Amino acid sequence: MALERWFRRQRPTRGDDDATPAGLWVKCSACHAQLYRKDLVAHLYVCKECGHHERMPVAARIAMLADEGSFEPWSGAVRPVDALGFVDVEPYAERLAAVQHKAGRPDAIVTGAARIEGERVALAVMDFQFLGGSMGSVVGEEIARAAERAGEEERALVMVAASGGARMQEGALSLMQMAKTTVALEHLASRRLPYVSVLTDPTTGGVTASFATLGDVIFAEPDALICFAGPRVIQQTIKQDLPAGFQRAEFLLRKGMIDDVVPRGELKRRLATVIGLLRAGGAAAPGALPAGA
Ligand SMILES: [Zn+2]
Repeated sequence: MALERWFRRQRPTRGDDDATPAGLWVKCSACHAQLYRKDLVAHLYVCKECGHHERMPVAARIAMLADEGSFEPWSGAVRPVDALGFVDVEPYAERLAAVQHKAGRPDAIVTGAARIEGERVALAVMDFQFLGGSMGSVVGEEIARAAERAGEEERALVMVAASGGARMQEGALSLMQMAKTTVALEHLASRRLPYVSVLTDPTTGGVTASFATLGDVIFAEPDALICFAGPRVIQQTIKQDLPAGFQRAEFLLRKGMIDDVVPRGELKRRLATVIGLLRAGGAAAPGALPAGA
């Protein structure tokens, strides 16, 4: 028991959000360097010792991508319901209420209008801290609405994905969001407006299997885990050792599943460039861009 307490004390103190600072110092989750919290935030949550990209709060992500003062929120009006009366270790309704209170938003996504280096976009950012960024009815609905409104307002759509997949507590209603978001993106494509998807750590499950990998251009952040089923599940199923870096962004780039791995500090400029090029071409034509454009 004493040993267990000792291990518990050694855990890094790590806040998940700016709203809940967990001390002045944080440990890099990759190289374990002690980092001054303010420095880490100023460096866009990238470790200056090893370059590891820590997960980023939604507000910081929007501030990083949107031109100053340009973001106008669209999401927030739709609230999730517990249609199944789902109970696991605690009732879904209670779990939701607690996380809504902490996050200050009804569900795991924020959408809105913004400009990225002057390009008019609809920006959608998933919140991994909100029930693992899981996709329930509200996340699907907000994405569909953002895609439709982007179409009406002639905006490109930029999606920053971070998700553990479908929200189990909403059962089949959650899985239906895969189809809903896909159809909404088709509508955007029919208007020949660009859709750029940014996969961050982690992007998994039904989110990977639907809107996150449907971008005209798909970027990923360095070392992001991107998969349908996770490496542990696959390893236990096939009972074989997996190659190094399996299902990480760089691995998927080599396999042709994504278009580029973009360090966070370059992401805004790269998004603006690619949207500008697709707009200039007048088409969101998949494969029209050379790699690294
Ligand atoms: Zn580090």
